Amino acid sequence: MRILATGGAGYVGSAVCRQLLKRGYEVFAYDNLGKGFRQALPDGCLIEGDLDDYSLLSKVLRERRIDVVMHFAASIAVGESVEQPRLYYRNNIANSLNLLEAMLDADVKRILFSSTAAVYAPIAEGSLSENDAIAPASPYAVTKHTIEQMIRDFSHAYGLNYRILRYFNACGGSNGGQYGEAHDPETHLIPLVLQVPLGQREFIGVFGDDYNTPDGTCVRDYIHVDDLADAHIRAVESFDTNETSKAKAGSIYNIGTGTGNSVLEVIRATEEVVGGKIPIKMLNRRAGDTDRLVAGAERLRKELGWKPKYDNLRDVIATAWQWHKSHPNGY
Ligand code: UDP
Repeated sequence: MRILATGGAGYVGSAVCRQLLKRGYEVFAYDNLGKGFRQALPDGCLIEGDLDDYSLLSKVLRERRIDVVMHFAASIAVGESVEQPRLYYRNNIANSLNLLEAMLDADVKRILFSSTAAVYAPIAEGSLSENDAIAPASPYAVTKHTIEQMIRDFSHAYGLNYRILRYFNACGGSNGGQYGEAHDPETHLIPLVLQVPLGQREFIGVFGDDYNTPDGTCVRDYIHVDDLADAHIRAVESFDTNETSKAKAGSIYNIGTGTGNSVLEVIRATEEVVGGKIPIKMLNRRAGDTDRLVAGAERLRKELGWKPKYDNLRDVIATAWQWHKSHPNGY
């Protein structure tokens, strides 16, 4: 199988590309290096290009005889999307439409799409199943849900086969901490908390303690990036086994562990990993955040046989610490 990964030099995309390459797939990472890093990928698989470049996309899809597109590339910060929605509508929706059209024109009929748990309506307890109510609370989440809808419509009308993967909170250092998160600016909780023991920040700001959760801080499902990558391998392999059944032309999977942790629990677990106190400061809520996002991942486990290797938050954070300690300024 020949795979094109948009955003393949990013944090999640590169973790998936590395696993695919290890398993012998032919993989091309299509990335403009705006947010991604050449160093996150083995030599030879990067194609530098923009997602709005229809002619380059078409050329690559045809010349490399691509069978499957994995679509990781996107703007991903909830808070930024509230302040700069036009960037999100352009980078996420317009560029995804461009990609889908290039795929149809090149007769590439399989896509794995990186969606998000942020599309769901908030819940006060328990976990989310793929059929639960949708109510995106930020422009970021709206753009992801709109792309899901576009893919479903294209599947119905043009026979596109899809796997929509709704990620919960990807985190951790990949390959034991050899690779990791390096966003600029960093907005994600675990890398920001780790900046305290690195001496790069004095405290971690907590965005709100008045949520409808046990300790008042938001609850999320933190999934190790290598477990997330493993779900992609299984999802891509399911195209071959399931495609004969019409019902399976498209499937949606939650990708999470099923366990929720609050912001304060993440900070406490990080203190245990680094062996020191991490000062906190209570701040106002961040626009676009919701109380609780925890995956019901039974479909992923049952249909794709997935099981996380990391089922303990401290182990996950330890791999992130390994990465940040050895790369305090990123790649
Ligand atoms: N968060 C926080 N302080 C920070 C960064 C994040 O309290 O400096 C909270 C944020 O409000 C959310 C959780 O940590 O409830 C996870 O946020 P992150 O940005 O890592 O991922 P998201 O859930 O937005 O995808």
